[in-house]
Order: sequence, then structure tokens, then C-alpha cells
Amino acid sequence: MSRPRIVIVGAGFAGYRTARELSRMARGKAEITLLNPTDYFLYLPLLPQVAAGILEPRRVTVSLSGTLPRVRLVLGEADALDLDARTVRYTGPEGDTGTLEYDRLVLAAGSVNKLLPIPGVAEHAHGFRGLPEALYLRDHVTRQVELAAAADDPESCAARCTFVVVGAGYTGTEVAAHGQLFTDAQVRKHPLREGMRPRWMLLDIAERVMPEMDERLSRTADRVLRERGVDVRMGTSVKEATPTGVLLTDGEFVDTHTLVWCVGVRPDPLAESLGLPMERGRLLVDPYLQVPGRPEVFACGDAAAVPDLENPGQFTPMTAQHAWRHGKTCAHNVAASLGVGERKPYRHGDLGFVVDLGGAKAAANPFGVPLSGPLAGAVTRGYHLAAMPGNRVRVAADWLLDAVLPRQAVQLGLVRSWSVPLDTASPELVRMPNNSNSNSNGNGNGNSDGDGSAEPAKNQPGGEPARNQPGGEPAKNQPAPERGAEHPAPGPVKRTDPDMKPDHPTEGEA
Ligand SMILES: Cc1cc2nc3c(=O)[nH]c(=O)nc-3n(C[C@H](O)[C@H](O)[C@H](O)COP(=O)(O)OP(=O)(O)OC[C@H]3O[C@@H](n4cnc5c(N)ncnc54)[C@H](O)[C@@H]3O)c2cc1C
Repeated sequence: MSRPRIVIVGAGFAGYRTARELSRMARGKAEITLLNPTDYFLYLPLLPQVAAGILEPRRVTVSLSGTLPRVRLVLGEADALDLDARTVRYTGPEGDTGTLEYDRLVLAAGSVNKLLPIPGVAEHAHGFRGLPEALYLRDHVTRQVELAAAADDPESCAARCTFVVVGAGYTGTEVAAHGQLFTDAQVRKHPLREGMRPRWMLLDIAERVMPEMDERLSRTADRVLRERGVDVRMGTSVKEATPTGVLLTDGEFVDTHTLVWCVGVRPDPLAESLGLPMERGRLLVDPYLQVPGRPEVFACGDAAAVPDLENPGQFTPMTAQHAWRHGKTCAHNVAASLGVGERKPYRHGDLGFVVDLGGAKAAANPFGVPLSGPLAGAVTRGYHLAAMPGNRVRVAADWLLDAVLPRQAVQLGLVRSWSVPLDTASPELVRMPNNSNSNSNGNGNGNSDGDGSAEPAKNQPGGEPARNQPGGEPAKNQPAPERGAEHPAPGPVKRTDPDMKPDHPTEGEA
């Protein structure tokens, strides 16, 4: 008898764990295929440290083929699912297409940047959801400080050295906390005009930083940010973004060339086309992570609305800790559906959270015990090392080097502004310059998708270069954006948009 075919779409926290557990359980008795656009698992919680130059980008990746030897890796992005025919169509990294047949399907495609139709944001802001965006930010910030140091007039110097982060969830909080340290260190070596210091602003319409988290963690983070000199403005957001700055909701115009958009994420749009019940863009599953009416289809991670049995009536939040544990339950239940073991519902216990604030500072509450200062820093880093499925020694080595050596502030210029548009269904890939105007998900590359936000093509090559030039991007050697690549930005909306996920509500589990 032929082996059952299990196809897993997405190799993030949920998909990677599902594949790993299944390969251990199946021991060759099932054919496990993992479809992912990159050949690595990305440990997203350490991305702010890549942007701040502490970790080299490869440190936060874990090779899929190197760590999942019994799993067949197919490079590509799923762009059509036929549930009746039980097939997944995908496009590979060089534009080739293929089809995978399955007996069991696991959807774990994660999430993408959430875009709000605030004028100018799509054109002038950058998200923080993938490695290319982190690399872009690291280069961009470095360049701004270098240009500021050489600027003749104080206004230009101040604008280049003003960095605005929108969204004070844990991602935005960590980006601002690390960013201030990074630029201060740069300026110590290469001073700006007399008396000038890089200024990081952290904005959110919420009343406190990390509003979804324990108040004690929030207070610690707020204190550290302010002590460090970050301009924390709660109850404030962006009304409009322009090439030279941002207009805040309180009426102030801030001159800047940097707008980092960390307001939240939305589930990957892959499942939308299936016509299955959804919950705020997430595919609805039962507590066994199975899609009702489709027992051969499972979903987990950010892409799935998983009932939270500890909090009846709610769904588990979009966090790495949940996605990782979903993966384990999903693997068991897929195996059970093939006659191995018994299926079990997804349950979790809250072990606490960690937020790395750079230097020796962090906010953490392992097992509900609030910690701050160096102890929290040690717990946070220890947690990340334990949680990473690989590359721990290299990460620890980078931390050690960062503790004893000055940080390297050089820009490699490998990721350009237009190649990391905010509005993308593929934050894990850089956009390529040639424009084929084709779009496998049928949204029409670069055209408005109806709510005012353009959905660029997935599946590079041929992706539309977006026109995100918030400043400082060299004018030469850039492919000219097509007219259709501009993201129209209709009237402002509030961040209270019901579909919007206000950044991940919890931080790394401790
Ligand atoms: C900067 C940042 C910091 C974070 N920090 C924390 C933290 O400290 N603690 C915490 O608990 N959570 C944190 N999170 C949230 C956490 O990372 C996510 O909740 C988690 O990654 C979700 O796991 P997932 O497997 O659903 O998705 P992901 O980990 O995003 O993986 C999805 C995978 O699917 C792939 N994919 C997407 N579309 C397709 C397609 N069409 N075909 C094939 N493959 C596809 C992607 O390339 C990716 O590999 C952070 C998130 C960010 C962005």
C-alpha cells in the first residue's frame, strides 16, 4: 500500500513543529512534504536584534533540510488550493509552477503586515514582518545617521535622525528600544551637529505600551524606554505620511525619513479563497485543529482561528508560543487521523512572557513573576536560546561579541526600499525589479483591491516594485515603478478597525 501523503503549507512556528513531530512519529511510514518559499524557519522574536545589528541575519534562521531530514522540502508559495481534488498548486522561486497531491493537508501560512488606509502610509512606511524588512531597516537607519552627520543644516540633520515607530505592541516596543541604543552608539563614534541626539518616537493610540500584556511588563518597558530617551507618545498615531515626514493625530508634523509600521498583522490571505468559515481572516478550526466538514484539512498558527478552551468563546492569540504548540497538537491529530494514536484537543497553560529591550534590559514574567533589569535580560535571552529549534551557539556567540565589541554600523545596501513594500502577501521575500503584472492570486498586481490597499503579486519573480521611498534611498539603479504600483490611500481610518489585530497580544513565552 502506498504511504499517505501529508502536505504542510508554511514552515514557520506551526508548520515547522508539525513537520518535525510528524517525521518523528511517522518514521518513514508517511510521505511528509513541506512547502515554504524559503529554505529556512525564521525565529521572528529575534528580528528586532537583526535590525539593531546585534545578530547577523542568518543567526535567526534554521535550515529546513538540515534539521528535518525525513521531510521533503518544496520551495515555493501555495497559490491555489483545490479541496475537492486534494491538490495544492504552487509557484517556485524561479517562476516554475507545480502541484502537490495530499491525503492530509496542514495550512500554516502565518500572517502578513496589516495595512490601514491612512494617506501615505503604504508609500512611505515599512513593515517589520520578515528578514528583508529587518535588513532594510538596519541599513536605512545606519545610512540616515551617516547622512545626518554629514548634513550642513540642522533641520536636515534632525529629520534624518528622527525615527518614528507606530504601534507599541511588543514588536514596536522592541524596535524602538533597540533602535535608540543602536543609533546612540553610532553617534558616539561619529557625532552629529553639536548637541544633537538621534530621536526615536513610539506612537500608539492605546493608553500604554504593550496594552495587551500584563500591566507590570508594560510599566517596566515604558520606564526603560523613557529613561533611554525614547519619545513615548500614547494616545497618538499617524494621520498622514509624506516623503518628508508624518502628520500626527495631535496635529504636530514631525520631519523624518523613517516610518516603521508595527501596528499589527493580518492572517496570510491564502485561505480566503477557500469559501470556508473564517473568523477575522483566520480559517476556523475545531479544538482538534481540523476544518469542520473537511476532516483531511488541518490549520494552525496565525492563519487559524483555534478555539481557546481556557477562555471559552475566544480564540488563541497570534503568538509564537501558541503557533509552536499548535504544531505539536496538529502533528498528533494528523497522525491520529491516519490511525496512529488518539487525537486530542488543543489546550495551553500560560507560562509568562519575555520582551527584550536591548542592553541588559528586558521585561519578563516567567510563571507570572514580574522581572525587570539584568535578571529579566538573562531570563529573556535564556528563553530565546531554549526556544530556538537550532543555531543557538551562533546566536549566543553574537550576543557575546556584541557585549565585548563595538557594533558594526555599515550598510550593505542589499535590500532596497522598493523591494520591501508594506503591502505584501510575502514579507519573507524581497520584491524583484521586473514587473510581469501577473498575479497568481488574481488580485491584479498593483491594483486597488477594493478597500484601497493594493495587493502586490505573490510569487516573485515578476513582483511589482512598490514605490516606498521614504527618503535616503539612492535614486540611481532603481527600477522605475509602474503607475499601477502606487498604493492608493483613501481616507483615514482608526486603528480600532475590527479586523485589525493590534500587534500580537503576548510576548515570547517564558
Ligand atoms: C518581529 C516579530 C516579533 C515577534 N515576537 C514574538 C515573541 O517574542 N513572542 C511570541 O509569542 N510571538 C512573537 N511574534 C509573533 C509570532 O512570530 C507569530 O505569532 C508566529 O510566527 C506565528 O507562527 P506561524 O507558524 O503561524 O507563522 P510564521 O511563523 O509567520 O510562518 C508562516 C510560514 O508560512 C510561509 N508562507 C506564507 N505564505 C505561504 C504560502 N502561500 N505558501 C507556502 N508558505 C507560505 C512563510 O514564509 C512562513 O515560513 C513576533 C512576530 C514578529 C513579526
